[in-house]
Amino acid sequence: MVMAVSLQARCVFLGAPGAGKGTQAKRVAAAASVAHISTGDMLRQEVAAGTPLGRAAKEFMDAGKLVPDEVIISMVQERIRQPDARAAWILDGFPRTLPQAEALDRNLPREAALTHVIYFAVPEAALVGRLSGRRSCSRCGAIWHVEHQPTRREGICDRCDGELLQRSDDRPEAIGKRLEVYRSQTAPLLAYYRDHQVLREVDANRPPDVVYQELLKLMQ
Ligand code: AMP
Repeated sequence: MVMAVSLQARCVFLGAPGAGKGTQAKRVAAAASVAHISTGDMLRQEVAAGTPLGRAAKEFMDAGKLVPDEVIISMVQERIRQPDARAAWILDGFPRTLPQAEALDRNLPREAALTHVIYFAVPEAALVGRLSGRRSCSRCGAIWHVEHQPTRREGICDRCDGELLQRSDDRPEAIGKRLEVYRSQTAPLLAYYRDHQVLREVDANRPPDVVYQELLKLMQ
């Protein structure tokens, strides 16, 4: 059941790949009618549509590397200006580097500054299992897990009967690289946002419903 909640948040969900940012961002955004801006989803759409941006991004993504800052920054700048993102949004997967965080700060008017940055804390040992078992619905985008959140029928989405797929960057070859990139390029953002006094932490190594309830409390 989707419960309507009211949030006027402009929020960043920060954390390692596999920490649950996407799952929670989808749920909070749907319940609170705020825009869910996932740079990973936007890039995957570009890849699926075979656009020049998608073709350029795919190589980086499949290797577990970051797409260059200038590409991502202009993509987010444009998205955040859309009418549905005027009042409130959740950024999921952006910023991932210091230049991206600085660009975001520069681009937000003072009256529409960030309200929260929420760090999804999960021990690194748990992340590999979360990523390698993750499956996404090719039709509705719902996220499942072969062990922690299995569907009733293997390989078929419970919500829409769509086919479940494994992301190409959730294969073992790319997972190690993504975690290394997170450690070296994204983890430094914790200190950046701590200094800006907007950082909140949620223990995301708990069942999704528990994490969801805590997020609503933190964001209200
Ligand atoms: P995600 O779905 O957030 O795990 O993103 C999947 C992939 O898209 C990442 O591994 C990167 O290759 C690329 N990507 C997504 N967001 C960003 C970003 N903010 N900066 C650079 N690359 C990104």
